[in-house]
Amino acid sequence: MAISLRYEAGVFVQGATRGDGATGEDVTANLRTIAVIPQRLQGGGWPAVLEVRGEVYMARADFERYNEQARLHGGKVLANPRNGAAGSLRQIDPKLTALRPLSFYAYGIGSVEGGALPQTHSGTLARLREWGFPVSELATVVHDVEGLLGYYKGIGEARDGLPFDIDGVVYKLDDYAGQREMGFVSRAPRWAIAHKFPAQEQTTVVESVEVNVGRTGAITPWALMQPVQVGGVTVTRATLHNADHVARLDVRNGDTVIVRRAGDVIPEVVQVVPDRRPAGALPWSMPTACPVCGSEVVREEGAAVWRCSGGLSCPAQRVQAVFHFASRRAMDIDGLGERYIESLADFGYLQDVSDLYRLGVEDLLEMKRRADARDGTTPETVRAGKVATKWADNLVEAIDRSRDTTLARFLYALGIEHVGESTAKALAQWFGDLRYGPPSSWPLFRRVPDIGGEVARSIGHFLDQPGNQQVIDRLLARGVRIGDTHAPNPKLGEHLT
Ligand SMILES: [Zn+2]
Repeated sequence: MAISLRYEAGVFVQGATRGDGATGEDVTANLRTIAVIPQRLQGGGWPAVLEVRGEVYMARADFERYNEQARLHGGKVLANPRNGAAGSLRQIDPKLTALRPLSFYAYGIGSVEGGALPQTHSGTLARLREWGFPVSELATVVHDVEGLLGYYKGIGEARDGLPFDIDGVVYKLDDYAGQREMGFVSRAPRWAIAHKFPAQEQTTVVESVEVNVGRTGAITPWALMQPVQVGGVTVTRATLHNADHVARLDVRNGDTVIVRRAGDVIPEVVQVVPDRRPAGALPWSMPTACPVCGSEVVREEGAAVWRCSGGLSCPAQRVQAVFHFASRRAMDIDGLGERYIESLADFGYLQDVSDLYRLGVEDLLEMKRRADARDGTTPETVRAGKVATKWADNLVEAIDRSRDTTLARFLYALGIEHVGESTAKALAQWFGDLRYGPPSSWPLFRRVPDIGGEVARSIGHFLDQPGNQQVIDRLLARGVRIGDTHAPNPKLGEHLT
């Protein structure tokens, strides 16, 4: 992640992300936790104001060590070094940033006031090194096009052995006077050019096509493959994007495929090698039941995405389900942020939304103690016992208050695909009572004005899942009270039993 560091009289005063080039995010406190960034410049002769530009990164070995530890202690695993570095810099709590193994390279300067720098880029880099900045040892000065291409080739060969991921090299004109003369095209300098390496590809064998259930219930296929080295990284999984993509590629179990890793994004399957397909390999098809919860897997007409219809009962979806359930326009539970929901789910306090109504103050405090221990933060419960207790008291009270609700809010809170607030209101008005909902047939939902086929189908799928029904039953058993129950609309009457 590109950042700028500002030094005044040799002291680090502010650091920001590059942002849109004009306005970045102030991440000074987090940058102070990176040991290799000098807080004070060494030596002397620096300008009164000096802006240093560079890259915060996570070395591959540090990234792997961090994830190993995270797995061991049940912490969050980072997706890749780039996201790891960017996410770490954006942590709200600098103490969390400090736990991440971040490194830094300086590669240029921004504004300079009250002093002069060497007249070349290489001279400036040497000066930055003297002042205490880490500068890549790979930066060098070459001549002519042959020099550039030779450098590109050399780095390309060394690429897999570098301690960090790169996607190319950058050529800069060394002479600042020449840089000024060349100038800019709109905002891009004419004196600096990025030369990317081609995406890295390898061949391997697909052991099986698996699916992953996302937090919104979207089901995405991916390939489990025999381990293969792609650009210095061992790869065993590659994304297949969606069911249509699998069909287009026609990936089957046992197929030999070409896998590509571009930059540091998740590797993808590019194509199948048709003449190496094993005999008897069958085309892949989307499973009919969710691999996590067993609910039906459905797809909207014309949509690319398949979804698990067990929104309330599917463990893969529970964080999202609880987050939506507790939101202001749903059950309106104040003080239950997403991070708390994640921790409650991680430590087994929440299997589904109905478990909210079993939480006590002690559970919440225990969850917080465990989350603090896992994340390595100074336990707030120890530092400010009263604050934490008050938070837990307030939250339990807010959950209790949410028990009294309306049918429209309750229906909306269930998080049924396509059922927004106004649809929930219409359903509540027409049906009047929860017991007239399931197991009504789908056409009945369509009798409600403004409810189209897709919405009716979605409600039907949702209510048809036994898992969802059980959660609704538990919510009522644990004291959720719908206060505005009334008789159904007479136009429905003849169809209701
Ligand atoms: Zn599911």
